[in-house]
Amino acid sequence: MVTRTVGRRGDHVVVVGAGLAGLSAALHLAGRGHAVTVVEREPWPGGRAGRVDIGGYRLDTGPTVLTMPDVIDEVFAAVGAERSSRLDLLPVDPAYRAVFADGSALDVHSDGERMASAIEDFAGAAQARGYRQLRDWLTRLYRTEFDRFIAANFDSPLSLLNVQLARLAAIGGFRRWDSMVSRYISDPRLRRVFTFQSLYAGVAPHRALAIYAVIAYMDTISGVFFPRGGMRALPDALAAAAVDNGVQFHYGSTVTHLDIVNGRVTAVHTDHAQRVACDAVVLTTELPQTYRLLGRQPRRIWPLRASPSAVVVHVGCRSIYPATAHHTLCFGAAWQQTFTDIIDRGQLMRDPSLLVTRPTASDPGLAPAGRDLLYVLAPAPNLSGTTIDWSSVGGGYAESLLDTVQARLLPGLRDDAQLLHLVHPADWARQGMLAGTPFSLAHTFTQTGPFRPANTVRGIDNAVLAGASTIPGVGVPTALISGRLAADRISG
Ligand SMILES: Cc1cc2nc3c(=O)[nH]c(=O)nc-3n(C[C@H](O)[C@H](O)[C@H](O)COP(=O)(O)OP(=O)(O)OC[C@H]3O[C@@H](n4cnc5c(N)ncnc54)[C@H](O)[C@@H]3O)c2cc1C
Repeated sequence: MVTRTVGRRGDHVVVVGAGLAGLSAALHLAGRGHAVTVVEREPWPGGRAGRVDIGGYRLDTGPTVLTMPDVIDEVFAAVGAERSSRLDLLPVDPAYRAVFADGSALDVHSDGERMASAIEDFAGAAQARGYRQLRDWLTRLYRTEFDRFIAANFDSPLSLLNVQLARLAAIGGFRRWDSMVSRYISDPRLRRVFTFQSLYAGVAPHRALAIYAVIAYMDTISGVFFPRGGMRALPDALAAAAVDNGVQFHYGSTVTHLDIVNGRVTAVHTDHAQRVACDAVVLTTELPQTYRLLGRQPRRIWPLRASPSAVVVHVGCRSIYPATAHHTLCFGAAWQQTFTDIIDRGQLMRDPSLLVTRPTASDPGLAPAGRDLLYVLAPAPNLSGTTIDWSSVGGGYAESLLDTVQARLLPGLRDDAQLLHLVHPADWARQGMLAGTPFSLAHTFTQTGPFRPANTVRGIDNAVLAGASTIPGVGVPTALISGRLAADRISG
């Protein structure tokens, strides 16, 4: 597919933001012969793939589930670098452990045969057969979608009308995620394992389009990995490769405004009174800020809808749980109600389902000797349509989440648990995130593919957007892909 491009070989491109999208854009552009300058307000790269060091613990404050290593390989390859020589990716096996309110548990393996056999033990032969069919369907969905819909630029919704779209429709991509999964497996616990990921897309499984079940492919089939040194090792390695290939970084510099002359951005200005001239700019800032910098608000038929948010509690504790998986999905008894609570009613989950991550299961060096590091993520309402006053309830809610983890997963946790760090929706809002959510725009139908805010800007020729609020969307692999799509817009 030939799409609109806005630059020329050799142009100097300024990338605003050294999050994963910005780093990917910088590497792809550098690899194609552009001079590239990255301006980042924080003192280090990573953005939402953030970091905090407290008392000898090395916390990752953002993503924990790393999938699609091929996409990471592609970013390093853009400058002729090999990922394996810059980043040590450890396979996480099981990818997840799912623990249910009735006390049952299932280890999720990426290997088809191991998973089918685990499901047979867990729920019987019929469910294992259903799983094999579901796996085939998820794989077909992924193959149909990836090149033409996820990793592609669109100039208009019409550019979608092609044979692949018909194929996608034929395999059920435009039905509902939950109903497609139910065709193959009926055990309600298993259905959760293959649909909870819809929350990553910001939509309940019974409402999400089945095309997003591709996230279940990434999570349960393509493999889950963890970088030695923590998630921060990923942006650090990308930034180091960029530096080695001539990319200039200005850390600790916030872009305050742009010079726009005759519909072209000619320079970016920073809070250090610096003016960086450019031939093109890639903006990876949060959408409202992007529009403010560009001085325009594109008209949209449908208002923008933010994803639900999350509370993240970071805890240090004695390492007395060596059998605890790297990722545990700790499901409550309630399910549909959980989505209604946080998405429709703007309230806390009455019966929480949590993601408990223990990064020290893969890399014990992330905590002091004899200690473990835990990261408890609770989905929560975003700040639009809720009356929750996080400054008064945040601390108590974090305590209640730890009680839940102790009761359901780690007995005795509270005897020696240090609450290291807490982040809630009001904190995300303070970092400038839309509606206090770190998960940007929800992946509803009207915010998907060509209907999502585009990565080109009408009326400004040489500005391109990248990052979670434009195409393809939220997540580590998608942010990296959006950086490549932005580079494609500049250099074709
Ligand atoms: C708690 C949490 C859990 C997550 N879990 C997962 C997960 O398990 N798996 C997964 O795949 N994804 C997950 N994600 C989502 C994923 O991390 C993000 O979608 C992705 O990192 C977004 O990258 P980005 O480059 O689009 O944005 P950002 O990371 O936000 O990058 C934007 C950058 O721009 C900088 N910036 C902003 N304004 C300016 C300015 N004016 N001047 C200069 N610099 C500026 C910011 O500091 C930032 O570094 C999670 C995110 C969070 C926060």
